[in-house]
Amino acid sequence: MDRRDFFRVLSTTSAGALASCNRKSDPLIPLLVPEQEIAPGEELWHPAVCSDCAAGCGTLLRIMEGERTIEIHNEKVRQRIAAVKKVEGNPLDPVSGGRLCARGQAAVQSLYHPDRLRGPMKRTGERGKAQFTAVSWTEAIEIAAGKIAQVRAADPSRIATFSGPHHGMRALALERFTHAMGSPPPAVCSPADFAVEQKAADLVFGWKGLPVYDLARAHHVLSVGADFLGAWASPVYYNRQYGTFRQGRPTVRGRLAHAESRLSLTAAAADQWLPLRPGSEAQFLAAVGRMLLDLGLARDRTHGATFASVDPAAMLAVCGLRDRQVRELVQQLGESPAPLVIAGASVVYSNSLDAIVASHYVNLMLGNVAKAGGVLSPAVSPPPTHRTAADALLRAGAVLIVDANPAYTLPPSSGVLDALAHAETVIGFGSFLDDSAAWCDLLLPSHHGFESEMAVVPAVSPQPAVSVGRPFVQPLYDTRALESTLSEIAGKMNVSYQAASLQDLLPDGVTPEDAARQGGSWLEREAEPPVRPATAVIGFHAANFGGDPARYPLLFQPYPSLQFHDGSGSNLPWMQELPDPVSSSMWGLAVEMDARTAASLHIATGEVVRVESPHGWFEAPAYVHPGAIPGVVSMAVGDGHVNYGRYASGRGANPISILAPAWEPATGALILGGTRVRVQRTTGRRPWIQFSSRDREERGFEHR
Ligand code: SF4
Repeated sequence: MDRRDFFRVLSTTSAGALASCNRKSDPLIPLLVPEQEIAPGEELWHPAVCSDCAAGCGTLLRIMEGERTIEIHNEKVRQRIAAVKKVEGNPLDPVSGGRLCARGQAAVQSLYHPDRLRGPMKRTGERGKAQFTAVSWTEAIEIAAGKIAQVRAADPSRIATFSGPHHGMRALALERFTHAMGSPPPAVCSPADFAVEQKAADLVFGWKGLPVYDLARAHHVLSVGADFLGAWASPVYYNRQYGTFRQGRPTVRGRLAHAESRLSLTAAAADQWLPLRPGSEAQFLAAVGRMLLDLGLARDRTHGATFASVDPAAMLAVCGLRDRQVRELVQQLGESPAPLVIAGASVVYSNSLDAIVASHYVNLMLGNVAKAGGVLSPAVSPPPTHRTAADALLRAGAVLIVDANPAYTLPPSSGVLDALAHAETVIGFGSFLDDSAAWCDLLLPSHHGFESEMAVVPAVSPQPAVSVGRPFVQPLYDTRALESTLSEIAGKMNVSYQAASLQDLLPDGVTPEDAARQGGSWLEREAEPPVRPATAVIGFHAANFGGDPARYPLLFQPYPSLQFHDGSGSNLPWMQELPDPVSSSMWGLAVEMDARTAASLHIATGEVVRVESPHGWFEAPAYVHPGAIPGVVSMAVGDGHVNYGRYASGRGANPISILAPAWEPATGALILGGTRVRVQRTTGRRPWIQFSSRDREERGFEHR
């Protein structure tokens, strides 16, 4: 089938008008679709892109005729609309391949969410109290331009922009805006940025961006610290790869060993899980490298010098592992025709960079870099240089917040709330009144991704790719495309600013129409560039954990969750309803702890515990996890929003809120695993919903 004919493509050039009307029944379809193309009961599919994480999966929207009731001139009016009923993966897209994760499926809920901001608003109460009143766009742009101009005139470096981890048209618009203002680039403010992984690839190979792990063609895989089936870099892409790795080849079933300090989804799916002490990934990989040398299985010994002086027994003691647990898997890896080490930092520790650099050296020794079944160079455009969040907080005169929620994703100990309270002005461009928007003076809401032109450069792609969506749904509310809001502010300030367009991200010879018709632009991958000699130095230092071990004896590790990601998905009821993969919690997350620690503290599953660090405390139900490592307390990120609409506000606790203000030294990424805590049972009770209230392991094995 011809790619162009694959879709029944809707016209995106003939705009249906949304006219005001005072009749009881309005025949107009407020969409960019001619009315005759929407037939009752008939479905249409429209290519789009998911922007709920940086993976940038290509999607298809299932469209059918629907109806909405709105108020026009104080009278309720029914309007026929083309409604998005379902979101699926775009089979042509090399990242999604026709699949989506749960968050991608739930994008339809964020489009029709009852808490979406309806139009621009300005603050009426104190900052942080979330009290606003509606204003016109003209007034809002004038206020925004005036406030930013004041700070810019005094010192443009005090314009602090916080953004999400996405790379695409919106990010490009923001980068051009900050450049035009003469201010520093945006600070990415999300635990799902993967800056450490990118830094390691740059240090060792000179690659810009996230490497592509060719899992589908590997035979033996050792993954370390990267929950690639959970919320790491590109969940849909790596789940698809994993399917092929396990079951997609007639004569090979891939074998996976996974080393991580948590029984994550990837650990649970692996043939072998090696439970590491938190922050010991670098020591583990040092032992693996040395064992490869000792076993004579290093195919390229030139990179073995890095591990020559390592004492594997001492390194494995730090990890909490024994020699024989590791030596056999190293033997299998070394003898495999297609071995691969995947390493990442689902939880960033102070020494995560050492660990990922070490993994690249092990791959060099295995001779699989830039080869099928090995580590491939990034195929997509490099992400631009960013400012660190710590630096942005220090110089926050005018704060601009786009696709980010720093008041949630940074701990109060970092000074984020003080910065928001004392900045000259704080302006938000998001779609919802979240924790950070509550501190804004002005809210300039952007269109939903399905309502505006959207292009996302996927974080991981096997070939050069840009996922593209053209507006299909006429904006439901008085919102604007971010690109045009920034243009208007720059125009009002008489600052020359080149607005970002779809064409800016497309390769030469590809028109926006061509890309939008199939949902993206995908080029053939060129030959891998030659691997440059690696020179990065590894320290194998122990990870730092803040807090007195005598007072705070437990290690704490919050992690991005499958359903809520960096917390941005928790305002969606479908995501709250999705049972947590670890505890099967619904509508509230639990603190995971091991049975031995729980018994010593007289804590049982479901009881409310107080988790306290030197920087704060929270309360949440305990989940005594059969697979948790003794002395380690884990919790998924997602709950604990002060402000995030009716489904998320005041629900549960935010584990980031008690972290130390510690940053990974080379990248400025927030260290998630660097804080000690103590846990106490409380007398409190609160409802806690579990999908399966008893672990299968407790029921014995007769049901299997
Ligand atoms: S992996 Fe990310 S981009 Fe892909 S469907 Fe899920 S949320 Fe959307």
